[in-house]
Amino acid sequence: MHILDTERVKTKIFMELLINDKCPACKSHNIMPIDDFDVHQLSNGIFPSKYRLLECQKCKLWFKDKFPIEAKVHQHYNNLDLENDLWNYEKRLPHEKKLDKILKRLPSKAKVLDVGCWTGRLLSAHPRLERFGIEPNPDAAALALERGIHVLGPTVTSETMSGNTFDLVTMIDVFEHLTNPLDIIKLITRQLRPNGKLIIVTGRTNCLPVRLARSTYWYFSIVPDHLVFLNKKFVKTLKNRLSLKSVNAEGIIHYPFLFTKHLRELAWLFIWRFGNPNSPFKRLRVFKLGIFKRFAYLKDILFVPPGATITI
Ligand SMILES: [Zn+2]
Repeated sequence: MHILDTERVKTKIFMELLINDKCPACKSHNIMPIDDFDVHQLSNGIFPSKYRLLECQKCKLWFKDKFPIEAKVHQHYNNLDLENDLWNYEKRLPHEKKLDKILKRLPSKAKVLDVGCWTGRLLSAHPRLERFGIEPNPDAAALALERGIHVLGPTVTSETMSGNTFDLVTMIDVFEHLTNPLDIIKLITRQLRPNGKLIIVTGRTNCLPVRLARSTYWYFSIVPDHLVFLNKKFVKTLKNRLSLKSVNAEGIIHYPFLFTKHLRELAWLFIWRFGNPNSPFKRLRVFKLGIFKRFAYLKDILFVPPGATITI
């Protein structure tokens, strides 16, 4: 009975995956794999256990070849356990300090929205502002409400966004989870006031560690719900597609940064780059050993590098 149930669940999961045959942002069919091998990842129930990473040749977005259907993604965030709160750091993180400075410069009663506000951690430190949030997890949203954040709804839709305009919208560690990034950003930027800003903090593909590790980078392989990844070229696409006045992309440190740890990670990534199945040395027997196929996973456990931000 148990085995039959498991099989049924497996089939159901398979049925609820969407194969990406076009770019989830610009919808171009001109897409190419980043590497020619499957990457195994820690599966999180609804997410596939292996993937290939694809690149849109038109807008340069990187994305996984399979997404769960949107309803399943929402269900996943609804069910996240608040007791296992990865974001409950005692101290302000480097990117939060930078955002605090921007929020402090806003006039009193300025209207701000934090998309994916979780428990209201970012905006709870700024009570002089009119604070709004979007949060799919009901427990997190209830805590945000207690902290004075008015939660508009679980997701960005024309309904949840209507009737409000904002001086600043923040979207921290959300972009990489979106199955339809261009549509969501369009809905948000429509609600910006004149000179209003949207600030997106997410991982980027145009940095050395990602260029070396490519589809095996920890940001993709360790976190199954990271689905899309941007870069500077994609930011330009946003500007053109959504007729934005200006865009700016800059690298920042996301987590506390240790220079020696970063150097060590780069050294390992160089080894991985020359040993991986796409390298010019792939014919050497040593690189055919199974350990190299698992190396991507091992290096992910050993090193967690800094992230980056894109400001629009
Ligand atoms: Zn595209």
